[in-house]
Amino acid sequence: MAESECIFCRIVNGEIPCAKVYEDDAVLAFLDLGPMAKGHTLVVPKRHCENLLAFPEEEAPALIAALKKVGNAVMQATGAGGFHVLQNNFPAAGQTVFHLHWHIIPRSEGDGMSLWAQGTYGEGEMAELAASIAERM
Ligand code: 5GP
Ligand code: ZN
Repeated sequence: MAESECIFCRIVNGEIPCAKVYEDDAVLAFLDLGPMAKGHTLVVPKRHCENLLAFPEEEAPALIAALKKVGNAVMQATGAGGFHVLQNNFPAAGQTVFHLHWHIIPRSEGDGMSLWAQGTYGEGEMAELAASIAERM
């Protein structure tokens, strides 16, 4: 996708307004307009890339620092007791905006949000799959 058509590039460039909560040289953070909880914030590298696989590793320290700063501030401002950091890659995982971004979602005890539906493995399946993943790196 051309960066001129990318909604988050347009937000980073100031062409589209956002409810900004944090900015530095590498990162912009703003409220998600469809929040899973009030205070749900998107942390976005300013430089366009589509997903985590395309993200240059040298940009990771600045990003992690921003996630910590924003996550802590969101938690304090909303009175939450915790927060998720989520990041969707490719449509099958729910990615709808193809400019890399992390979701910070504040959580409180008893808020009723349910994200973790856990399954089980069959006999031997876990070791086989672990080996299959490992041999691809
Ligand atoms: P994804 O599903 O790609 O991980 O998340 C995209 C997120 O971006 C969604 O949660 C959606 O609500 C949010 N979003 C999409 N367009 C805009 C926008 O123009 N402004 C803001 N603030 N959030 C947006
Ligand atoms: Zn972009």
